[in-house]
Amino acid sequence: MSSINADLHCHSNVSDGTLSPEAVAERAFNNGVRLWALTDHDEVGGQRRACEAANRLGMDYLTGSEISVTYAGKTVHIVGLGFDADNEQLVKGLADTRGGRERRAHEMAEDLAKVGIHGAFEGALKYVGNPDLISRTHFARYLVEIGLCADSHEVFRRYLVEGKPGYVGHRWATLSNAVRWITQAGGVAVIAHPGRYDFTPNEEHALFTEFKALGGEGVEVVTGSHTPDEYVKYADMARSFDLLASRGSDFHDPSESHIDLGALPDLPSRLTPVWEALSHRIVRA
Ligand code: AMP
Ligand code: MN
Ligand code: MN
Ligand code: MN
Repeated sequence: MSSINADLHCHSNVSDGTLSPEAVAERAFNNGVRLWALTDHDEVGGQRRACEAANRLGMDYLTGSEISVTYAGKTVHIVGLGFDADNEQLVKGLADTRGGRERRAHEMAEDLAKVGIHGAFEGALKYVGNPDLISRTHFARYLVEIGLCADSHEVFRRYLVEGKPGYVGHRWATLSNAVRWITQAGGVAVIAHPGRYDFTPNEEHALFTEFKALGGEGVEVVTGSHTPDEYVKYADMARSFDLLASRGSDFHDPSESHIDLGALPDLPSRLTPVWEALSHRIVRA
């Protein structure tokens, strides 16, 4: 099995990370990453900068994005890798998916105001690098700033999630559209951090089955969101569904992210790494 240090899931300030694409590239390279993909939420605006920075440093690059999907009433993330970032259908699909984030953010701020937290929209906006992409992460940073919570993990326990102040339901892309945008642009679709969704075993089986039927080909096995037990569980799922396996830290920020770029264990054995199937799409340094 290939033992290259690949990190194929992380964020820059083009979505809800705090570092520029160039700074994420440098941190990845300094941590030993030799194949990298920047996967900003619902965006490809940082792809050219990321690819150029990676290649300058001597690091191979795959294009990436993490698409927000509504599936069975829950938000599921689908990572696309190795697509043509200028593909019109993909670019339009992502723009449509981003649309509505600003209105949602205003509604989140209104809901927070009901529990006495005022000015959250303007507060969150201070952290936004891309006006098109205001996210719950930016609200979380503001709630930490004003001392309401110690860190973003506490925010996501007490606020911004279903049943808690600041939560606003939102309809994202469909699973079928997200997979289609990625595949028709020449990329591979990957289920991001499946351990995070709290699906029942039946629901999870349905997600994997439907995803495969739609042309999805990969699943994240080793991610910053999984426990070591989940590495084993999703390695088994990858084998039984005949899916390619991916690895990515989901890095957002040096102090917020508990797993740094390139710092995860290797993929378990008897899996096909997604980058082997994408070797023709890698932009070599
Ligand atoms: P949004 O796309 O605006 O709904 O924001 C989702 C983002 O919030 C994710 O990509 C994470 O960066 C962050 N997030 C969601 N849940 C948590 C959590 N439990 N702990 C920390 N960050 C979270
Ligand atoms: Mn995020
Ligand atoms: Mn995600
Ligand atoms: Mn992510």
